[in-house]
Formats: sequence, structure tokens, C-alpha cells
Amino acid sequence: MLVERDRFSPITYTYQAELLTSVQSDYQLIEVYQSADFGRILVIDGVVQLTERDEYIYHEMLAHVPLHIHPDPQRVLIIGGGDGGLLREVANHPGVQTVTLVEIDPEVVRTSKEWFPTVSTGFDHPKANVLFRDGKEYLEAASEQYDVILVDSTDPIGSAVKLFEPGFYQLAASRLSQPGVFACQSESIHFHLDTVREVQKGLRTAFRQVDLITACIPTYPGNLWSFSIASDKLELRGNPISAKVTGRYYAEDVHRAAFLPLSLVEKLGLRD
Ligand code: SAM
Repeated sequence: MLVERDRFSPITYTYQAELLTSVQSDYQLIEVYQSADFGRILVIDGVVQLTERDEYIYHEMLAHVPLHIHPDPQRVLIIGGGDGGLLREVANHPGVQTVTLVEIDPEVVRTSKEWFPTVSTGFDHPKANVLFRDGKEYLEAASEQYDVILVDSTDPIGSAVKLFEPGFYQLAASRLSQPGVFACQSESIHFHLDTVREVQKGLRTAFRQVDLITACIPTYPGNLWSFSIASDKLELRGNPISAKVTGRYYAEDVHRAAFLPLSLVEKLGLRD
């Protein structure tokens, strides 16, 4: 049995699941469970990161919405994402030439390669360049410019706190070519509204355009998960895209429908 604590509240979820492996890395406790309903589950410090059953929704949305907003994404940076699911989706874009993934914890990559073969396929892709470093420190030292920067981090706890701060968003903005697109996972609309608001507000200190998309991800608390998207030059909502890549979930009409309706943006206080 796996009991998941909600990411910031005392609410817990129970899965019928059997522990397959458990590793304490230098950064976190990494566990893999086998469940009847969701297949294998990757858990870090007691929080479900992905399940085999629904990981494609999260990874397709975090990859394909920003990559289709950009007119010609060639150089993509992923911060976090050590399971490889986002890398798999990004590498699939025909115009992308390099995908650099900066993950702090090599043990997450090793675990994913061993236990999640359908998720970790991207690590073998010739476009992939994997570095084991803190994502913020990497950006501080980097001279490269990226067309798209994607943050696929754990919750704003421990080593990931710095990836949710306005200073980090400003740093990321300075490493984007023009026009560039930034996107990050920004937690549950239902349970973590304060975090969603903080992310949107922080992004507005760094980018002229900031918006929010959502997708229903059954295994995450509250189901309705949010991703924040930002750009200086590119229109986000209403940008006429032509999807070069579609997925099991993502398609052009899904892209358009993913933007949170403006009446909800207002009611939820997501814009000042
Ligand atoms: N989809 C997942 C979720 O939100 O449930 C996140 C997936 S991925 C496993 C998150 C990764 O972010 C972890 O492997 C973690 O090690 C990495 N991470 C956390 N802080 C980081 C940092 N400062 N720099 C780079 N990677 C970081």
C-alpha cells in the first residue's frame, strides 16, 4: 500500500501498491511501486511524481504547448525532469536540434532507466544532452541561449524552492533567445492556489506575457494540474498554431482548450 501525502496539505491518497525498490540518494528518497490501477509509480520523498498510466498527459502538455507556441524551437533546455518523460516528448519535435536536461539527482535518472523503460526512452536520443547539476546554478553559469526553457521540477520544497522564485524566472528570461518561451509545472489549481498565484506573479516580473494552461491528471492532488507559460514577444493565448506533433492526449484543439477561461483567471485572482 502506498499512502501519498498531498503536496502541501494533510490530505492523503491511498493506492493499492507494492514497493519494488527504494533508494536514498544524496538529495531525496526515491521509491518505485507497482500498483494495480496505475502501473508503476515513481515517488520522491513521499510524493507521486508519475505513474505509467497517466504520465503522458503531463509530459505532452508541458512539452507540446510551449514548443508549438514558438515558431521554430531548435534549442530546448529542461530543468529537472530526471524521469525522462519530458525529454522523450521534446526530442520528438522534428525542428528541435538539441535538448539539454539539467537534473540535480543522477539517481532519479538511473531509477527511471531501470524501472520505467517507456518513460526514459529519450535519454538515448541523439539530440539529448544530460547534465547532473543544480538547474539554477547551471543557468547562472551558462552562456548558451535557448529558444524554450521548461521546468519539470518537484514541488517548491528543498532543492526545488529556488526554481519557483522571481529571481529564477528573471535568470531564465535572460537565457532565452528572442522570441523565447518559458514554461513550468505550477501545481494544483484546487489545493495549491497560493502557489499558482505566486508563480504567475513571479513570472510577470520577468516576462510581458504570462498565462496558464491546465490538464486533468488523475494521479495528482485535485486532478486539475496547472502549467504556467511565459514569453516576452510571443502571443500565448490565441496564437494560431499548426501542430507538427500530436500525442495520445495533445492535439491542436486540446492546445486551444487548455488555456484557463478568462473568467476563472479573474475569479481565482491569477492576474493583478
Ligand atoms: N512530474 C513531476 C511532478 O511534479 O510530480 C516532476 C518530475 S521530475 C522527477 C522532478 C525532478 O526535479 C526530480 O528528479 C528532482 O531531482 C529535480 N530537481 C529538483 N530540484 C532541482 C534543481 N534545483 N535543479 C535540477 N533538478 C531539480
